[in-house]
Amino acid sequence: MMTPYLKRAWAEVSLPQLRKNIGIIRELNAPGTEIMAVVKADAYGHGYDRVCECLAGECGIKYFAVSNLDEAIAVRELCPDADILILGYTPPEYAHEISGNNIIQGVVSMEYAQALCKNSSEKVRCHIKIDTGMGRIGLRYDTPAECAAEIARICGVEGLSAEGIYTHFAVADSDDPDNVAYTDRQEKFITDTYDELVKLGIKLPHVHFMNSAATCYRNSARSTLSRAGIIIYGLHPDISLDIPEGLEPVMELKAVISQVKTVPAGTCISYGRTFTSEHEMRIATVTIGYADGYSRLLSSKGEILVRGKRCRIVGRVCMDQLMIDVSDVPEAVSGDIVTLIGRDGDEMITADELASVYGTIGYEVVCGISKRVPRIYVE
Ligand SMILES: *Cc1c(COP(=O)(O)O)cnc(C)c1O
Repeated sequence: MMTPYLKRAWAEVSLPQLRKNIGIIRELNAPGTEIMAVVKADAYGHGYDRVCECLAGECGIKYFAVSNLDEAIAVRELCPDADILILGYTPPEYAHEISGNNIIQGVVSMEYAQALCKNSSEKVRCHIKIDTGMGRIGLRYDTPAECAAEIARICGVEGLSAEGIYTHFAVADSDDPDNVAYTDRQEKFITDTYDELVKLGIKLPHVHFMNSAATCYRNSARSTLSRAGIIIYGLHPDISLDIPEGLEPVMELKAVISQVKTVPAGTCISYGRTFTSEHEMRIATVTIGYADGYSRLLSSKGEILVRGKRCRIVGRVCMDQLMIDVSDVPEAVSGDIVTLIGRDGDEMITADELASVYGTIGYEVVCGISKRVPRIYVE
């Protein structure tokens, strides 16, 4: 049957599972905490058009976070009424685009706040970022009182509209006591800073610090927003810790067997001759490769589901194709749909599992699925 997309390598994104994950995250949060859906990097590779439409529409999400201005403007077109926060850097000369699109910019210093306001005739909305231990961006001070004093000065910058303060945790995805204590200190610093600001007569609508890991493991009613990213898509902040029941992956990655061959012992498979068959084997060629974002680091390591059975990759993953051992699946034929990420029968391969095979995290696996792979949305 012809499909509106090429049935070669494609990603299926389940909108019902996305909605279900949002429902579970809402349950985790305190009544006063709203979800700020993190949809940077094309919604972690899931495609922001349909993801944002679903989140803003049926899910009723009002807050979104992105990494940059281009993403913010794209989300603005999809969600005319949402609050959209840019977590990362925008060159100050674009301040006019920030305010013109009613975007909220993360502000990391007094100088940056002033530069933004110099470049915009309209008010620039912002949340002020505090570095409490991530060591990435934000105001860094020894005490909450000093930090609050500087925030108060920034709030006074002409043309700036500060609506919140926030920070980012470095190890909220760890249950090691030392790491837990570290995160405790980060949380205490931001909430104390907020309280100091109140003492100075500044009561901002937002203070937020929860990411996915904190939302799962140390949910706090003090955070007015939970900046949930990876758990929206059903993956683990850290593979070694379970996530709440019902949060399941939203994306599956599929491809097709183009050819099946029986080869005798001594046959070399793929570039570099890294694999030679030791006995007769059935080898299937699959229509996906590293240009689709299926990492070459999975060469001779990864497994793929064929008719509900795990089949190992043999030899190197090529740019557009790879080979697998289907000796144990005699029914496998050309045209079979195979599952690289997702469930087939009783077996399931998650992006988190793939990531652990080649030493990365599920985040990188889903973000890395390339543009060439059409995203298909299933209801
Ligand atoms: C990416 C990001 C998040 C979301 O992180 P997850 O681990 O995916 O929940 C939250 N806050 C900031 C500042 C980020 O950069």
